[in-house]
Amino acid sequence: MCGAPFPEQSRVVGKRLNSSQGLNPREKIGIATTVVRCNGCGLLCASPLPIPPQIEIHYDIPPESYWRDPKIFAISPGYFSREIEMARMLLGSLQGPPRALDIGSGLCKTFYILQQAGFEVWGIEPSPTFREKAIQQGYASEERLKPCSLETAEFPPNYFHFITFSAVLEHLYSPDYALRKALSWLIPGGILHIEVPSARWLPAKLLNIYYRIRGTDYVTHLSPMHPPYHLYEFTPKSFYRHGLRAGYTVAHVEYRPGSVDFLRPLILLLRPLMHLTKTDMQLVVWLRKKSTP
Ligand SMILES: [Zn+2]
Repeated sequence: MCGAPFPEQSRVVGKRLNSSQGLNPREKIGIATTVVRCNGCGLLCASPLPIPPQIEIHYDIPPESYWRDPKIFAISPGYFSREIEMARMLLGSLQGPPRALDIGSGLCKTFYILQQAGFEVWGIEPSPTFREKAIQQGYASEERLKPCSLETAEFPPNYFHFITFSAVLEHLYSPDYALRKALSWLIPGGILHIEVPSARWLPAKLLNIYYRIRGTDYVTHLSPMHPPYHLYEFTPKSFYRHGLRAGYTVAHVEYRPGSVDFLRPLILLLRPLMHLTKTDMQLVVWLRKKSTP
């Protein structure tokens, strides 16, 4: 992201197993990969980075088994409304409805809400099962929801006013490539909304300390070899520095608490401190494409 040479400008933070590690990873059977932190921007990534022969292997499964909680299919009141408000504020006044692209539409809840809010919406979703579920739920139309990945998707250059990547970038093998491709579809001055896992999540830091006390070098960051297949964790600096190279500015940064079932009491307890120290689970950045390259 920041252009710092790899691996010279990075350091090993620990190892990550190919399954949930629990409180006693020493007892677990599995294989591990190293997790490294970039000295330039604090980005966390797996190295070596395990890559499946086809990316679809990870996501071409019934949505019910990727998201086990059936409540996930329903749209809760107020879903994505703050984001729409922020997008409208950053875009300012436009002639006609804003054109939006939802990358990695998943179950298309964002797609649907954007459409309800008056955006002209397109989406891309490479998983046939997720796409089918979204169309079946009535959240997206077949024509507007392209059955492809970001890598193979094609749209006219300088076309969209707003592009959203919610919980997508951390799954992609090259966030740099993904951001540049998305930017090429955005009008100059257009807005890119991105939500990713933060590399500075406080409960992760505490769990890492616990693993150290137990005499292991495991860390709780990322999930490069098991669901949800997170390959990266980001910092605001990752985007500030990447923007200098890729032609965008960071218009706004915010944090979201996120949730993990088995850590719920700890997260509730730490909430005020996380808010104060900007160490929440999710990092949200709003990027603006520069008018001149
Ligand atoms: Zn970096």
